[in-house]
Amino acid sequence: MISKIVGNITPSATCELEGIIGSMKKDGIDVVALNIGEPDFKTPEAICTACKKALDERKTTYVATAGVPELRQAICHKLLCDNGLSYTTDQICVSTGAKQALFNAVMAVTNPGDEVIIPTPGWVSYVEMVKLVGGIPVCVPCRSDFQLDIEAIIAAVTDKTAAIIINSPNNPTGAVYGLESLKRVAELAVEKDLYVIADDIYEKLIYGEKQHYSIAAISPEIYERTIVINGMSKAYRMTGWRIGYSASPKSIAAGINGMQGHMTSNSTTFVQWSAIEALRNGEAEVKQMVEEFSKRRDYAYERILQLPHVQCTKPDGAFYLLPDLSWYYGKKVGDKVIRDSFDLSEYLLSEYHVAVIPGDAFMAPGTIRIAYTNSMAEIGRGIDRIATALAALSD
Ligand code: PMP
Ligand code: GLU
Repeated sequence: MISKIVGNITPSATCELEGIIGSMKKDGIDVVALNIGEPDFKTPEAICTACKKALDERKTTYVATAGVPELRQAICHKLLCDNGLSYTTDQICVSTGAKQALFNAVMAVTNPGDEVIIPTPGWVSYVEMVKLVGGIPVCVPCRSDFQLDIEAIIAAVTDKTAAIIINSPNNPTGAVYGLESLKRVAELAVEKDLYVIADDIYEKLIYGEKQHYSIAAISPEIYERTIVINGMSKAYRMTGWRIGYSASPKSIAAGINGMQGHMTSNSTTFVQWSAIEALRNGEAEVKQMVEEFSKRRDYAYERILQLPHVQCTKPDGAFYLLPDLSWYYGKKVGDKVIRDSFDLSEYLLSEYHVAVIPGDAFMAPGTIRIAYTNSMAEIGRGIDRIATALAALSD
């Protein structure tokens, strides 16, 4: 029989849907994909070339579990230059995607029965990761503008709280947290002896004036209590390459490294060399991509605002919109009542072939998540379909 822990896991809505859409497309269905958090831009040529070179040089053996020293050095350099954070290579662990780095982090600081605070809306996998290690996820809703509700976070801390997960820019809201609120989280963590897991994966995807702050850089005390998570997937269009990393205090890093040595060992060796290329020389292409995402954000946001009875907060980062469509709950298509975001997303996909993620998967029940990780034309076509689908619902 399957274990209680695994039996209690909800599969990832984002990953599952990607499989379903793949089969629909294979069957010749013209699906407009606004579901997945993956840049539609191709991995830059130089990164691919570095990978081919590493293969030609047969960089295909096991290496140190935490990653080749050259990559860990490149990561230390990035953290210093971009984030003002000083780490040595023994504090870095390169993992199979930021997802594994996050799981390692949760595992490293959570004892069975410990509570982990997750501001919501929040990414699908945080709650499940906490459950997987025997912890208790404590979801704390953000304010209506999707900024952290610090008072609610303070109120949620108990003597069982082990950690808080902070994700800015945020998936799915696109919110970028200001320095003041991060300072308050840092003060709380230091005062109550909590760890902070700072998921910075969307750090470079910010549009407009806002700036990314790394909570670990706020004070030496919070540096000692933070595990920084980042990776190559979003900024360098390397989703399928599976490279992420953590940077943490030495004792935590040693624990993560020891644990990963029993799980996956090192992440794919020749891919690590492409990550070095990306970190050393990839910024120009990141900048170009961010300019394009910024235009798409504006376009998608304006279009969504025109949909009747739909509310939407303008995101400052990542590549998602989280419109509230709850006005349509209780409406019908034929005999079927649209009860919630699952029904609505299912209706949009099955009847109008437009793929979005139900907000319930992010603990944002009134919403759907729209990823603008597709061309402007496809975003337009997708929102046209959503408009038609909403207009077809009746009382
Ligand atoms: N954190 C967040 C908030 C994400 O949206 C994702 C999605 N990929 C990840 C972590 C994991 O990224 P990776 O592809 O590097 O595993
Ligand atoms: N993070 C992306 C998303 O939210 C990719 C899928 C996943 O890893 O969850 O769509």
